[in-house]
Amino acid sequence: MDFSMKAVSHSSQPALAVTEIRKSFGTLEVLKGVSFAAAPGEVISIIGASGSGKSTLLRCLNFLEKPTSGKVSLGNDVFEAADFASPNTRSRTRLMGLRRRMGMVFQSFNLWPHRSALENVMEGPIHVLGRSKKEAEARALELLARVGLSHRAHVYPAALSGGQQQRVAIARMLATEPEVLLFDEPTSALDPELVGEVLAVMKSLAQEGRTMLVVTHEIAFARDVADKVIFMNQGQIEKIGSPEEVLSGDARSDSLRSFLARFERNEIRA
Ligand code: ADP
Ligand code: MG
Repeated sequence: MDFSMKAVSHSSQPALAVTEIRKSFGTLEVLKGVSFAAAPGEVISIIGASGSGKSTLLRCLNFLEKPTSGKVSLGNDVFEAADFASPNTRSRTRLMGLRRRMGMVFQSFNLWPHRSALENVMEGPIHVLGRSKKEAEARALELLARVGLSHRAHVYPAALSGGQQQRVAIARMLATEPEVLLFDEPTSALDPELVGEVLAVMKSLAQEGRTMLVVTHEIAFARDVADKVIFMNQGQIEKIGSPEEVLSGDARSDSLRSFLARFERNEIRA
């Protein structure tokens, strides 16, 4: 792959900036002040042991979990945790906007079982963007083609392989035209032979200049596709840098070294 072709813009304003995000569940502090920024078109992979707070971090970015404190900036819009402490009509409207602008793909696809692939992808444009059924259908067909599933448009999720279901979930996310794409271990639930087709779609999104945060155990994806890698340890960013710096650098900490060594011993599928 020729990385020089990648459409990374060098605009000074980040697409996404995360400032001092903290999250506690009761007395358990799961995120302990996380800050980073993603430039437009940047792909950031987030790695770290189970329980280190990766999913909670992604969920705090679009306020599926309300951060205890800190702020998330999306372009010019700043979402301060404190402004959302007690819900009201204005805060709910703002959060709907935030979630539309930050699409998320989960490990477990979460497609509507009683709707075809096409209907799953049409849902967002109709209900979130207020598009007509005809427009939504045309766009959904384009997106299914984009993920290589034109021939499966009228099939229900149960008749699709896991890899196909995840590609429909990616098309569904793209249908609401998000600015930032969040992926939470999108290939972890898949049989090994189906991982590649999903990673290929993600790689093509990276190449077209999408801003992406990808929590993944696919170290090869992090190494080959990401511009930056974040290593999370116990609710903090322990290291952030280029894939080279984080994955092969000499400055790796004991915790990062032991995390990566587990891949080499195949304890985590890489
Ligand atoms: P990761 O995705 O890195 O495996 P998570 O963000 O899922 O980590 O979890 C981080 C920690 O937060 C874990 O100790 C987990 O048990 C805890 N946690 C996550 N969600 C909740 C919740 N809703 N209530 C209480 N504890 C939670
Ligand atoms: Mg997780």
